[in-house]
Amino acid sequence: MECVMCKSKTFYTASEVGSRGHFDLLPGTGFFSHAHFTQRICTECGFVHWFVDGDNLEKLSQSDYYRRETLE
Ligand SMILES: [Zn+2]
Repeated sequence: MECVMCKSKTFYTASEVGSRGHFDLLPGTGFFSHAHFTQRICTECGFVHWFVDGDNLEKLSQSDYYRRETLE
């Protein structure tokens, strides 16, 4: 893996980051209330990479809030 911004390969990684808190990480998707994430922060530029864990990634296709896009 490399940072999408600066191409560095070194990260600070936190697994099992919970969405339960004072802000909504996946707005408009009530079924994500117990979702967990892996977070990787680039050690060079600070860009934060969020990864939705497990079955929750599949659930995004059912959400009206998120639209699927392919970006070049
Ligand atoms: Zn970076």
